Amino acid sequence: MNSPTTGAGYGMALQRKPKGATRLENSAGLSIDKNRLLWGALSLLILVLLSQLFVGSPSKVADDAQSLFPDPLLTATTQISWDAVTEGQVRTPDKAPLQWNDVTVRRGDNLSLIFNRAGFSDRDVFEVTSNDNTRALRKIFPGQLIGFAANEEHQLVAVRHIESSLKQTVYSKIDDAFLSEVIVREPQVRQRTVALTIESSLFLAGDRADLSANIIMELASILGGVIDFALDPRKGDDIIILFEEHFLDGEKISDGNILATSYTTSRRAVDAYRYTDSQNVTGYYDGDGVSMRKAFLKAPLDFTRVSSSFNPNRLHPIYKTKRPHRGTDYAAPRGTPVYAAGDGRVVEAGYSRSNGNYLFIQHGEGFKTHYLHLNKKRVARGDRVKQGQVIGTVGSTGAATGPHLHYEFLVNGVHRNPRTVHKILPKAKSLPESEIALFKDAIRQPFQRLASMKNSGSMMGAE
Ligand SMILES: [Zn+2]
Repeated sequence: MNSPTTGAGYGMALQRKPKGATRLENSAGLSIDKNRLLWGALSLLILVLLSQLFVGSPSKVADDAQSLFPDPLLTATTQISWDAVTEGQVRTPDKAPLQWNDVTVRRGDNLSLIFNRAGFSDRDVFEVTSNDNTRALRKIFPGQLIGFAANEEHQLVAVRHIESSLKQTVYSKIDDAFLSEVIVREPQVRQRTVALTIESSLFLAGDRADLSANIIMELASILGGVIDFALDPRKGDDIIILFEEHFLDGEKISDGNILATSYTTSRRAVDAYRYTDSQNVTGYYDGDGVSMRKAFLKAPLDFTRVSSSFNPNRLHPIYKTKRPHRGTDYAAPRGTPVYAAGDGRVVEAGYSRSNGNYLFIQHGEGFKTHYLHLNKKRVARGDRVKQGQVIGTVGSTGAATGPHLHYEFLVNGVHRNPRTVHKILPKAKSLPESEIALFKDAIRQPFQRLASMKNSGSMMGAE
């Protein structure tokens, strides 16, 4: 029970910031007692069942169900493991372990409402927060837990604010004042490499490999300047992702950063590496140190909603003639967010019978992008916009048969094919010469991991 390795065995590190009086170390409080966990789980279950019994009208039930565990980080496991952590931290005159009553923060809540709900007064709110240097309780968000522990006389002896499975602040009454302490748990970081081959869609491939949508979106944003994820992906494209995962108590709690990725089609291969330079600026670069952040996005809309089966209307459906098609069409549901392809200024925002609601954006001297048939415009003429900023939504206004974004790219006033225009765009920023050696050094290990994955994939049986 009291083995000296309890802390380490628990897979965590505490960053203690003691305030006020010296604390007693109590390593036993950190150990996992199976019985306690079991009882914790059981009492939680009972609490949940009781709360089901005592909530009022059906509409209220739905309301509560929504606010019960909206944050996936805050689960019953979180609560119980925090019980174990908290116990070692809180020093109270009583020897008995604290019994926590945790209350979920709801939308529109404030401390007074929460304390009252737990059976405490505004006076208690004042006492708990008056000495608070951490200010944790000043920032509460729906889904977080506020826990209360009282003595036998129902006087408040401790309050805990569980922000996430990684951070809580405990307020404990020592003599007559509440002292606060932030307790942080460090997740264990592991690296994972995943290889995907696209069969039908990027998301399905990611799903099959058990990747979260977040990682796929992150991948798309890293490569969004070089790959049009709405139109480029083809069956057989190979993707490798090296990324970090965060674990707590042996359970995965979140994805970390993508460290490196490669995207290989039948015609080309793109590699990207995460690198933090000596100015402490983090970005993604190809193997030669050229930034992946380009002046223009390849697909200026939420690609996840684009239907790939869309056939650009060579024969114009309304004019029934073969009109020169000078842009790219992305068919997507009405309301799909449309992004500014690059930094610039809105030079036109209007409506015409053929274009419908349209926006023209000027980027520097020579480049202009057009966005037609919008449902809604979200910017006005003269506005400055940033790359990726939502400027409107997909619609079917003007001469359009169905909702789609018609996107045009002009260089010095001449229409260019947005799909191939990158070949004549100015080169993206590279790392300075002074940084290259450091960069090469930093990416050596991820580079090798990508390389070995590529080899094991494509050269199967070659040896
Ligand atoms: Zn079009």
